[in-house]
Amino acid sequence: MTDDSRTTTCCVVGAGPGGVMLALLLARAGVRVTLLEAHRDFERDFRGDTIHPATLEVLEQIGLAERLHTLPHVKAESFRFVSPLAIDTPAVFSRLPTPFPYMMIMPQARFLEFLVKDAKRYPHFDLKLGAHVDGLIEENGAVRGIAYRAGDERGEVRAQLTVAADGRFSRVRKLAGLEPISTSGAMEILWFRLPRRPGDAHDEAAIDVGPRQVIAVLGRPHEWQLGYVGPRDATARSRTRG
Ligand SMILES: Cc1cc2nc3c(=O)[nH]c(=O)nc-3n(C[C@H](O)[C@H](O)[C@H](O)COP(=O)(O)OP(=O)(O)OC[C@H]3O[C@@H](n4cnc5c(N)ncnc54)[C@H](O)[C@@H]3O)c2cc1C
Repeated sequence: MTDDSRTTTCCVVGAGPGGVMLALLLARAGVRVTLLEAHRDFERDFRGDTIHPATLEVLEQIGLAERLHTLPHVKAESFRFVSPLAIDTPAVFSRLPTPFPYMMIMPQARFLEFLVKDAKRYPHFDLKLGAHVDGLIEENGAVRGIAYRAGDERGEVRAQLTVAADGRFSRVRKLAGLEPISTSGAMEILWFRLPRRPGDAHDEAAIDVGPRQVIAVLGRPHEWQLGYVGPRDATARSRTRG
């Protein structure tokens, strides 16, 4: 039985950066949009904490860059590869001809909350948190929306267009019978954090390359975010070793 039924023009499944940004742009353009997210909030750590100059320029075009800069963030002017043999700087943002010659580092949760807060100003924007999409509504061979579960309730959203923005393991993609094409080898990154102390001397953004290990380092305002890059079985091997 369906407890809630909504009708919209575009239904976007997944409130990661892709889905939230799309929903915001559609709402701004006057398109009715319903955004569904399985989680009840945006608190998912260690994902997409870097906001690049091109993204900042887009945010500037829609009048959001200045306000975004009032939130706590760190600016990295370059991205360096540091090894015992050499230091290479493949990305020097400070040389770019842009009003934002740096990579902004901010927890993704804060960024998504910021975008959603702006989207809520538009009457065409509708957000449903805690909604796990688990079915497609199909009519005459076309997808016409989705079905979801939210706690004990079931609901559906009927839409002219349904967008699967539900990430790498997209349920909607599977339901639609679409197969992703894999283009790169598998690797694992173990993310963890260390406290950041005044006077810590490290680049805000760097990849430290050792003889057998690679660690990505990103400076957050109050901590260091570290990503240990390893082969596909890195997690299992680290657990075995303790
Ligand atoms: C550990 C890690 C670190 C990263 N670091 C960076 C970085 O520093 N900079 C950078 O630019 N990128 C980074 N990335 C990549 C970046 O996070 C992804 O490219 C980006 O999150 C993809 O955005 P998306 O909106 O497509 O999908 P996602 O961010 O995966 O969002 C998908 C959303 O869909 C929701 N969802 C899933 N299934 C359902 C369902 N059935 N019903 C409803 N909702 C559903 C999920 O809860 C999620 O919120 C990192 C990724 C990882 C994993």
